[in-house]
Amino acid sequence: MQFNSRYSLLPSKLYHHQQPLPLKGAKAGHFNTALAEQLQWSEADKQSWVDICSGQKTFAEFPPLAMVYAGHQFGQWAGQLGDGRGLLIAQILDQKQQTIDLHLKGAGSTPYSRMGDGRAVLRSVIREYLAGHALNALGVPSSNAVGFTSSTQGVQREKLELGAMMLRTSDCHIRLGHFEWINQYQSDLLADFTQKCLEWHYPECLLAEQPILAFATQVVQRTAVMIAKWQLVGFAHGVMNTDNLNITGSTLDFGPYGFMERFRPNWINNHSDYQGRYTYQQQPSIGHWNLWTWLNNLIPLCPQDYDKEQWKQDLATCLEHYEPTFLEHYKLGLSQKMGLPHFHTDSFDCAMAFLRILQTEQLDYTQSFIRLQNKQYEIIKDDCLDRRQFESFLAQYEQIRANQDTAELDAAMQQANPVYILRNHMAQKAIERAERNDFSEVDRLFNLLSQPFTQQPDLENAEDLAPLANDAPEVMVSCSS
Ligand code: AMP
Ligand code: MG
Repeated sequence: MQFNSRYSLLPSKLYHHQQPLPLKGAKAGHFNTALAEQLQWSEADKQSWVDICSGQKTFAEFPPLAMVYAGHQFGQWAGQLGDGRGLLIAQILDQKQQTIDLHLKGAGSTPYSRMGDGRAVLRSVIREYLAGHALNALGVPSSNAVGFTSSTQGVQREKLELGAMMLRTSDCHIRLGHFEWINQYQSDLLADFTQKCLEWHYPECLLAEQPILAFATQVVQRTAVMIAKWQLVGFAHGVMNTDNLNITGSTLDFGPYGFMERFRPNWINNHSDYQGRYTYQQQPSIGHWNLWTWLNNLIPLCPQDYDKEQWKQDLATCLEHYEPTFLEHYKLGLSQKMGLPHFHTDSFDCAMAFLRILQTEQLDYTQSFIRLQNKQYEIIKDDCLDRRQFESFLAQYEQIRANQDTAELDAAMQQANPVYILRNHMAQKAIERAERNDFSEVDRLFNLLSQPFTQQPDLENAEDLAPLANDAPEVMVSCSS
């Protein structure tokens, strides 16, 4: 590994140094060899991946640390949070010379653990491991993980579960909530911290007339792009708290997320989300709310020669980029999924008509797009109670596609419509086997989800392609992790 240990150069109030506390009986779970390669892990590093991913081996080049941050959880100010069960154990250069953080989750309690035990359970580690991998393979900005380990140590949740650790990778672990903590509790650090964020993550903004406004605009836009991509693949994050979004337009911490199966925009995947704040359809507006909350923390950074009211106005203007950026990416992506020309004035209407059918007929979001792509119109129609509604959609659809370069449109569809998503019941089966010490299903899903756009008959199971039957008990996911 090549180290670039920069976070530990920040003022010490922003973190706490400590070593991981290994679990009893650590053992291999899964290792992402291709990612280790990208991260320039040496043969020796790869050989000792179980020790690294279980907190038994750390690096002299980087003293492990828990970061402090704050956040708004479910819309409420939660005060100080911080890494309560994870440690930044290294910052290394990947093959593209980009700095990547290695964060070991489940590594024991820290000064920021509050009432928690500092641990993560195998169930939640596998869910987060597969989510990051699936999103990356789908081209959605996301943290990832290079490996995870299980153990023989019991960790109490609703029931006794197995403790586990995961080595998360991300281009950044600075959350929106970092700014909230600094602004609230240590505002003298705000200017220098922001400067570091620009240098590390947005160096091009340093050249702008107003670097902080340029930075704010970039964060707004990148977040909007990520959420547009979530909507397109049917991903519901489940806990869009400000401490789970980072400043590079990506996310940390996947717990009670879900890839939507039947198209239900107001579906609540997270059973701890009693009010449905984080449903699929709410995500774009919650992203806006989070960014608005975050931008308020930049108000004290008003340059000396700048009018304070004007500064507030200008920060608000940064947020105005959110909606158009979101819509641009969402509409473009949706027309690709539909195989419709983006420039055609009726394409968006036609896509909405398709989504309305999926919603009223409760059809599977992912499979319906694949059927559209495969021109299996009769199969979709047969699943509809209101067949006329589908026929009228199809007439409009074929009319728009007439006289277009359909080969090009069809090729775009294949890049935009995954065959495989990580359905909750798929993850659940892999978890249940792993809890019995069999990681083969994790491995199968890992491989399947590596190429989500390509049909893989040798790897797939019939259940991978369909939602659970309507009368089958739903897999319950909650914040418990
Ligand atoms: P999360 O829901 O994973 O985003 O966590 C929210 C906050 O709670 C973060 O500060 C976590 O570090 C902390 N946290 C969650 N679970 C635990 C745990 N078992 N022990 C200590 N801290 C935890
Ligand atoms: Mg979190």
